[in-house]
Amino acid sequence: MAESYDILVAGGSVAGLAFASEAAKRGASVLVAEEHDEIGEPEKCDGLVSLRGLVRYGYPPARDVIQNKISSAVIHSPSGRRFAVNATALDVVVLDRSAYDKQVASEAVSNGAEVRTGSRVASAAVGKDGVQAEVGAREVKAKYLVDATGPASSPRRGILPAAKYELEGSWVREHVVEVFLDSTKYPGFFCWVIPYGKERAKVGAAGYGVNPFKALDAFLEGRDCRVLRKVSAPIYVGGPAPRFVESRRILVGESAGQVKPTTAGGIMTSVAGAVIAARWTCESLRRGDPALLGGYQREWERAFLKEMKTMVRLRGVLEKLSNQDLEAVFSAVATPKLITKLSQSDFDFHGSALLGSLGVPGLLRVAKVVASAEVRSLLIEG
Ligand SMILES: Cc1cc2nc3c(=O)[nH]c(=O)nc-3n(C[C@H](O)[C@H](O)[C@H](O)COP(=O)(O)OP(=O)(O)OC[C@H]3O[C@@H](n4cnc5c(N)ncnc54)[C@H](O)[C@@H]3O)c2cc1C
Repeated sequence: MAESYDILVAGGSVAGLAFASEAAKRGASVLVAEEHDEIGEPEKCDGLVSLRGLVRYGYPPARDVIQNKISSAVIHSPSGRRFAVNATALDVVVLDRSAYDKQVASEAVSNGAEVRTGSRVASAAVGKDGVQAEVGAREVKAKYLVDATGPASSPRRGILPAAKYELEGSWVREHVVEVFLDSTKYPGFFCWVIPYGKERAKVGAAGYGVNPFKALDAFLEGRDCRVLRKVSAPIYVGGPAPRFVESRRILVGESAGQVKPTTAGGIMTSVAGAVIAARWTCESLRRGDPALLGGYQREWERAFLKEMKTMVRLRGVLEKLSNQDLEAVFSAVATPKLITKLSQSDFDFHGSALLGSLGVPGLLRVAKVVASAEVRSLLIEG
């Protein structure tokens, strides 16, 4: 006989678990099915996130889940020039992502949700009256299916090959995030160093058509280090999905493309999506009206769509800049005024912060120095 729940959540990572926690708190019966045997494993994410965003949506990390606090970000040009942004006011931290997922899972269970590991949602038939799914060896019926399966269901467009190493190295600066731009080595993206302790960092690379392991090995040549763990995991930079809700199937987190197209950071935007979706789903359950689910996408878009569009536009620019362009842009934007403005901005809305800090004169300055006419029009008309 089939088990019965109000909501079946496929995927027990940050979005699925935050959804379950929030929905269970509001009285819904919720089953989370996670295909892996342990919540948070295998860990792929680097855990760089703004505390402010997680606090805003009600899921701040416990103190022992925070591995590090970031004091500045240094951006390197292809030729080795760099500028640093003071990040102390931005509240940026590095999470032990596996531990954070376990924390949210335990909150979900305390609120009354059931979290089942080693349980894959193998198939789900979603009809206008409900959902019938195969979860592990069991049959589950639910009023709604929440798809929180991550990149597996993201649109294929916008997926970049990426890899990261966790390593020990004496050159790691304990509280400084570093970003290395180079359109030949990391086309359309960059290489990053995120410190998570003394002389410890998560170092990653991504780019169109690259072998990210080779790119990382080349980056680490001449940098003395001991690699502790290697992970291959694609990142998603394609922007939000056009529709978050199809009948009784609700997409949250990376499944809905709720990820920043500039950096592929998705923890905060996915938690936000999950919390907003859970509120609307519970309201829809309470009133027996699936049409109310439309409120979820409207509310998420009110909070994030403008910023996502700005980030998509910036990504379009970054993807087309040659190394020569990057050097010229560096000279044009790395002014003390811009760096000060960025240090007082919002980490989660960095696209608008960058454009706002540049202003029209700054954008025109940048447009003047780039060689590509296509990029100039993206900057000026976008
Ligand atoms: C290398 C890398 C580094 C990153 N670094 C950062 C960072 O520093 N900061 C940041 O904000 N974001 C970062 N991200 C992005 C962030 O990890 C994701 O945006 C976030 O985890 C999305 O959460 P999610 O719950 O939507 O999906 P996911 O975390 O992808 O989880 C999906 C879950 O669904 C499960 N699943 C899939 N299919 C099924 C099924 N059929 N049945 C049951 N379970 C299923 C999976 O096992 C998984 O647990 C990074 C991503 C990568 C790949």
